[in-house]
Amino acid sequence: MTGLVVAMDGPSGSGKSSASRGVARALGLRYLDTGAMYRAITWWMLERGVDLADPEAIAARALDPILTLGADPDAPTVAVDGVDAAGPIRTAEVTAAVSAVSAVPEVRRRLVAEQREIIGSGGIVVEGRDIGTVVAPDAVVKIYLTASADARALRRTAELTGTTVEAQRAAMARRDTLDSTRKADPLAKAADAVELDTTALNLEEVIAEILRVIKEKA
Ligand code: C5P
Repeated sequence: MTGLVVAMDGPSGSGKSSASRGVARALGLRYLDTGAMYRAITWWMLERGVDLADPEAIAARALDPILTLGADPDAPTVAVDGVDAAGPIRTAEVTAAVSAVSAVPEVRRRLVAEQREIIGSGGIVVEGRDIGTVVAPDAVVKIYLTASADARALRRTAELTGTTVEAQRAAMARRDTLDSTRKADPLAKAADAVELDTTALNLEEVIAEILRVIKEKA
């Protein structure tokens, strides 16, 4: 398992984070949440008043924030310029803005390079949108998680307070459209990825199925 790379892609709310952490924990692997990196840069830019409607303004600051990631699946951490960002990157404001930042090629180029460096010689589960297609195209195991729009909105609503299933469904649909139609590294299923529809599965069942795929491929 030491050199293993497990690429986990899929739209928002498909259950990637819980499944990725569970698989990493079960196999004693590291865990990387690449979405947290895009969110951390977005938060940093919002704090500094960067105009997120202007891709050139985003590109001009793309290299400035310094990110530090902790890869323990039991306690993943993310800091920007040394400041813990785990809480602020999950706000509705960051969630609504992140797709505009992640669509900018300068941001992606920088983060893809950092993600490859963290992956290093492997032993890691990596979740995102472009892991199997761009970040780690040679990963031995590639999983593409999906779930119905209703199931995804219900799950996300249960994790948050002060929102409704309807509002979540609309927000996720908007973000998925932006993420899958952008020019640079869009959300996509790699040709050699195993697609897993989690609509009718609980977390334990999803983890068990992924562990079965890993056993078969690795
Ligand atoms: O996974 P999460 O919902 O936290 O990702 C937040 C956003 O980061 C996504 O909506 C997408 O815009 C961006 N992202 C990306 N590529 C990745 C991971 C996330 O563009 N590999």
